[in-house]
Amino acid sequence: MDKLNYFNYCSLVILVVLTAVILSRRMLRGRRNRYFWNLLLVVLCSVIFDILAVYLDNGAGVNVLEKYVAHGGYLILHNLSVPVYVIYLACLTDNMYKLRDNVWVQLLLIAPFACVLVMILTTPFFRMIFYIDKNGQYIRGPWYGVLYLVATFYIGLGVIYALRCRRLFTRGQLLSMLAVFPLMLIAWCVQIVEPGMRIEMFAHTMGILFILLMVQKPEERTDSATGFGKPSAYVTDVEQAVYNKRPIRILLINILNYRLLLDVLGYMSTKELMNLVAERIAQTCRTELPKADPYYLDRGRFCLIVGRENFHRLDSAAQALNEMLKEDIYMQDMNINLQSNLCILRCPEDFGDLKSILAFSNEFEEYEKTGKVFYAEEILNDGRYIIKDIENIIENAMTNEGMSVYYQPIYSVEEKRFVSAEALLRLNDEEYGHISPELFIPVAEKNGVIHRIGSFVLEEVCRFIASEEFQKLGMDYIEVNLSVAQCMRNNLANEILGLLEKYHVRPDQINLEITETAVADSQNIMAENVRILAEAGIPFSLDDFGTGYSNIRRMATLPLNIVKLDKTFTDLEENPRLEIVVRNTVRMIKDMQMKIVVEGIETEEMAKQFSDMKCDYIQGFYYSRPLTREQFVSFISQAQ
Ligand code: C2E
Ligand code: MG
Ligand code: MG
Repeated sequence: MDKLNYFNYCSLVILVVLTAVILSRRMLRGRRNRYFWNLLLVVLCSVIFDILAVYLDNGAGVNVLEKYVAHGGYLILHNLSVPVYVIYLACLTDNMYKLRDNVWVQLLLIAPFACVLVMILTTPFFRMIFYIDKNGQYIRGPWYGVLYLVATFYIGLGVIYALRCRRLFTRGQLLSMLAVFPLMLIAWCVQIVEPGMRIEMFAHTMGILFILLMVQKPEERTDSATGFGKPSAYVTDVEQAVYNKRPIRILLINILNYRLLLDVLGYMSTKELMNLVAERIAQTCRTELPKADPYYLDRGRFCLIVGRENFHRLDSAAQALNEMLKEDIYMQDMNINLQSNLCILRCPEDFGDLKSILAFSNEFEEYEKTGKVFYAEEILNDGRYIIKDIENIIENAMTNEGMSVYYQPIYSVEEKRFVSAEALLRLNDEEYGHISPELFIPVAEKNGVIHRIGSFVLEEVCRFIASEEFQKLGMDYIEVNLSVAQCMRNNLANEILGLLEKYHVRPDQINLEITETAVADSQNIMAENVRILAEAGIPFSLDDFGTGYSNIRRMATLPLNIVKLDKTFTDLEENPRLEIVVRNTVRMIKDMQMKIVVEGIETEEMAKQFSDMKCDYIQGFYYSRPLTREQFVSFISQAQ
């Protein structure tokens, strides 16, 4: 009876297309991709051997050796594909390292296949699995069933393993990973009943197709231009390492001048440049760190996840990468010089949870810009990095009265007395001590706690203004900082007006500060909030003027009463041109009928310079640092 090769031809076409896709999308980098590639190659080769075997069986010739090679090759590869698939599953769940450590598991995985291999290789002599009779006919041997037995064992192992690790996969992924097994079983049954129907490899091929589309997900996981993992792949892989408690090192690489390059070169050329950088990183890794998994996060940020087998090479590899990144890149007739930043992070020693690792991956460039390779450990040890705890710190401070409001007096040049003050938030933590609002406000904005913090400050200020001691001071108003997130809140105006009513505070007794950046990026909701509050009689200040992208047009359209010139403008000695800028800025603001506060005045000289320029108010350490409520009351009582 002739055997049918049609299913094998279909499999061959599909597998060749998949191979082309993988090669063109450069899906060969990283462990996951490498193991999938091995699986694909094993299946592809077994299809080729099967086609050959069927071809020889159907032909008239009686070449026994050729037939032994073709059938033997097919059976070896075919039986190898199932354990290779199980190993691929172990890699998907990031458990290869456990496999490497455990001799028994290794034996469990290798021994059955090793038996099969010996039986197939010796079959020409003992005729256990198959033999070619004197007519050149392929005949199954008495032990052929062992092949099915061993494959069933591996399938069982795979199913149990996949189900045990189901938490690491989506339902679709799990189903497609398991679907491979019933597909194989059905194909076996068909082939047992109809040995001429060569359908087994077609089932394997379908399985491979499922896995590629549902689990490997080239669109989602791999950046086709560089072959590096995408950010989502980075998140999944770190999550798996954390879940499995697998120790890893992450080498973070950041191109610091990426923004500048983007401005100068434009999007397409910068993308091309980043591809070149990726290529160079991959090249260096080939020799220095061969088993690292590379990722391209975004905006000039790359990273490598390194497993334990490569820990000892990491330091020298990081140095080599740093050296390599300092070399000029020649592109479009330009010599481009990258400024890079490399940091080594240890998991779980430095950070043991996904959230902190991702936060640090995003922010590490803030901490070190020396151009040397540095370690997350250094930053953690010298107390610069408290972000990993900041959410707890804020939460703790909110419940344990660790937050307080300080007041910094503001001096009126015209009236020659302190007319107002700025309310400044202070956070005191038992472990870390005083933490600057510049550090915790951005975090509070991201996680939404800013609204509670903002309400706390507003309430404290209203309570203070309503108090008798404040009324005795004879001051006009208190300035309160509003953050961007607060300004975008729907019920901000209601809340503030409600508080004023509750404490019987007049609208002109508070002044709300919004930063220049908030104004520049301002959304409609913010303008609406400002309009309602301004109509209710609350004056507004524009804070930190001159530090962001000054959106003068928007500034002119908002109902602002005061502009606060940022403290970076106060040192006029530094640059004579700065004085011209400041002088004209002051004039422009005054022409716009707004008052001016200068922040950060530290010396008598500075105070004189700005009062000569006819600035209205002066705030700074020269007069007073921010003070507690009690200190502030006694300071003003003595000064007035
Ligand atoms: P800001 O609103 O520009 O506040 C002025 C900052 O300059 C304060 O820093 C103040 O202590 C500091 N400063 C005042 N005079 C001098 C001086 O003479 N020399 C120097 N070098 N600095 C001076 P602080 O208290 O660390 O606050 C930093 C920023 O945190 C504030 O900048 C503000 O943007 C934000 N912030 C503070 N409290 C709050 C708050 O209650 N809510 C919100 N949303 N933001 C706040
Ligand atoms: Mg302010
Ligand atoms: Mg300011």
